[in-house]
Amino acid sequence: MLNPFTLAANSGPIVLTKADLFRVCIPMREPFRISSGEVIRKEAILLRLGDGAYHGWGESSAMGGDFYSSETPEGCESELVNSVLPAVLNREFPSMLALEEDLVRLTGNRFVRGAVETAAWEFVAQRRHLSLRQLFGIPDRPIASGLAIGLYPDVAELQDAIRRYDPYQYGRLKLKIKRTHDIEVVKAARSLVGNFPLFVDANADYSLSDLSTFVALDNESLMMFEQPFGKDNFDGSTELQRQVRTPVCLDESIETAEDARRAIEMEACRVVNIKLQRVGGYLEALRIIQVCSEHNVPVWMGTMPELGIGSAQALMLAAHPLFSFPTDVEPSSRWYLDDVVTPAIQLSNSSIHLPAGPGVGYRVDEKKLEQYTVTHRNFDI
Ligand SMILES: [Mg+2]
Repeated sequence: MLNPFTLAANSGPIVLTKADLFRVCIPMREPFRISSGEVIRKEAILLRLGDGAYHGWGESSAMGGDFYSSETPEGCESELVNSVLPAVLNREFPSMLALEEDLVRLTGNRFVRGAVETAAWEFVAQRRHLSLRQLFGIPDRPIASGLAIGLYPDVAELQDAIRRYDPYQYGRLKLKIKRTHDIEVVKAARSLVGNFPLFVDANADYSLSDLSTFVALDNESLMMFEQPFGKDNFDGSTELQRQVRTPVCLDESIETAEDARRAIEMEACRVVNIKLQRVGGYLEALRIIQVCSEHNVPVWMGTMPELGIGSAQALMLAAHPLFSFPTDVEPSSRWYLDDVVTPAIQLSNSSIHLPAGPGVGYRVDEKKLEQYTVTHRNFDI
């Protein structure tokens, strides 16, 4: 496998002169509910970036509202339009490392950086007539997919949802939990799925005062406890991991490779979830993978969830040999009434297989893009 850092250093020069920014909105099949809030429409910013001959696509997929993180679709659009794109376009970057450095200087918003960085990487691959997978030296293999089930008002509705979405089509089942919706949620799911691989994601809803909940859940043979405590509560997570056998997985806490190193050295987790959006692109994700690999900590690929472009990017990286658990990326039809990529992302034998082809393998359907675009900004220099 190629060393991505050598590759990044030798990827230039890069001059981007054209950008199209599409803010899109696609209805969801059902609300996506986690411990801190819910969304009923998928909003995302899709970015086409190139030089007139070649282009790549990026996605900025902050969750609508501000309950998941401080980044929002409105904020990302505004930063891209008003500061980041005008600063990046029509300049020569000697390499992708230089572009990344500039993005870090321009904005702390990783959802914005991720859109530009991933689009620029695809541009580099297209220019070399390679797929991104070939460019990164990542193998072509099916990616095991896991089903995620959000929060429901009561156990009967939760069980209906589990039956409807059928976890047996997937490699495992993940349940969202929150305070007062936890132990009975797991027991209700277990009664339906038996020994099927299962775990919980708390999206940071708990603290050490809730230790007894996790001690009780420790007897449920769960694969992991994902992000039990607040994003910055590494000490609490260390204490929890001392008290339970179930591995703690960190998600929201890990924004950088340095976060991953600190969490692992503090023994605050035994598994790391990586999201391209949360960490700001491929290079930081690859650095996190490297840190986890040095410490034998397994990683897996999460999702916001994104639309097709962001999902395809995540799937491409999830084929990296160090990814050990099924991804959260699900087929397009799981959450959305439609998508802008073609072919649709589909499940087969519990896995998703990226199509062969340039870039990330999927194409953007221009008609659908037009249908779901709320605002379009063109930068043509
Ligand atoms: Mg999570």
